[in-house]
Amino acid sequence: MKQKKNAGYTLIELIVVIAILAILVGIVVKVYVGHVEKSRAAACASNRDELYSEISTEYTAEEYSSLKLAFIGVMDERYNGRELCPSGGVYSWVDGENGMEQITCSVHGNPGTKPGEGEGENTYPGTDCEIKSNVWPLPEKFPDEYQQLTLKPSGIFEWEGEYWVICREFSLTREQAASGPDGKGPGGVTYDWFPTEKLTGRILTMKKTDGTINGVTRGDILEYEGEYYVFNDGGEWGVNPDNDTKSQWYKIPK
Ligand SMILES: [Zn+2]
Repeated sequence: MKQKKNAGYTLIELIVVIAILAILVGIVVKVYVGHVEKSRAAACASNRDELYSEISTEYTAEEYSSLKLAFIGVMDERYNGRELCPSGGVYSWVDGENGMEQITCSVHGNPGTKPGEGEGENTYPGTDCEIKSNVWPLPEKFPDEYQQLTLKPSGIFEWEGEYWVICREFSLTREQAASGPDGKGPGGVTYDWFPTEKLTGRILTMKKTDGTINGVTRGDILEYEGEYYVFNDGGEWGVNPDNDTKSQWYKIPK
């Protein structure tokens, strides 16, 4: 009877081993599926980028009277029936953020508004605010050199190695857009009322019990109650965002 103990595994032991194996297999499969979906999303985004530049080229060459018509034409002529999204998503032309047109995928969304699986990797240092793409308009987004585009308040975006936010709605021309968010371009035009703010990289914190904060400059970020705000005022002190009646602070959308 004594040998029976060493004769093999008990049922409990087997169940435990099988359960552990099942968990391990589950983890491996999850990681693998995540990896595959990530590379599909990346391939889809780069296909949309490529398609966008083809459309811009056609539009600039005056083959079409609008970017939307160029999209329809290019899709019809060159990609008819061919799948561009590796996950089988369908592409369409939409008005994106800030009234800018974008190609969207029915599975992966817009490049600027839904980074898909990459979420969380592309955030501004020290915050959980996503760095948005396609915020500042490219020259080809403008119908002509006279017509203005209206930009709406944005999250954080990059322009020539610096980080910016749009704090209030404003309109600009193609020439102003080409000169960048500081508004000091070829024409030397500066935007009124500082609709844009360049981030200084400084992050301050304030508690709910604090009334004011001293020594702030334009573009400083304030962490307050789990949210992030940009200082959009000329002074050196800011009030608690809960009591902000002067629109000193712009709350950054995540
Ligand atoms: Zn897709």
